[in-house]
Amino acid sequence: MKIICIGRNYADHAKEMKSELPTEPIFFFKPDLAILRGHKFYIPDFTNDLHYEVELVIKINRVGKHIDEQFAHKYYNQIGLGIDFTARDIQQECKAKGLPWEKAKAFENSAVLSKQFIDKSDLDMENIQFSLSKNDTVVQNGTSSAMIFTFDKIIAYVSQFVTLKIGDLIYTGTPKGVGPIKIGDKLNGFIGDKNMFKIEVR
Ligand code: MG
Repeated sequence: MKIICIGRNYADHAKEMKSELPTEPIFFFKPDLAILRGHKFYIPDFTNDLHYEVELVIKINRVGKHIDEQFAHKYYNQIGLGIDFTARDIQQECKAKGLPWEKAKAFENSAVLSKQFIDKSDLDMENIQFSLSKNDTVVQNGTSSAMIFTFDKIIAYVSQFVTLKIGDLIYTGTPKGVGPIKIGDKLNGFIGDKNMFKIEVR
């Protein structure tokens, strides 16, 4: 199983990061052991600026390569919710030096994933509302309608480079409002008003 993450897929987030808007999807990988097991996230020692990024997650259910955009919807049935935890200080350092982002993005436990996935048929796919709260205050609020690249475009694009396999996950980018966490914070992710995950920061 592989985890593919899309960067800068919401214009409001690209703006808050002072990044240019992409003309094609930007993607990177996290290893399978990035998936956080359980409800406790321990801030790693190597960062002083660990940020949350809440993201809709596609679960691939068919093997495919060079998938045509018009058929991409046949390669996933369910949507989940996750966090792409990011060591922002390390990412900025990597960016400044023109180095890859793995240290900042692909570390162990850096991917929160909801246990539950929701069938596409139970969602308004063009306008999936999702949010993240920190200590009961909403910090991020997004809708799939604001994505620069749709789920289907992402699948078509990424599958030109790598075969997608059953069980692969695609984190589809974060809206604005990313920010730091500290020990004791409680994070709750929602699709609509359904609580998809609860995380305690340690
Ligand atoms: Mg992200």
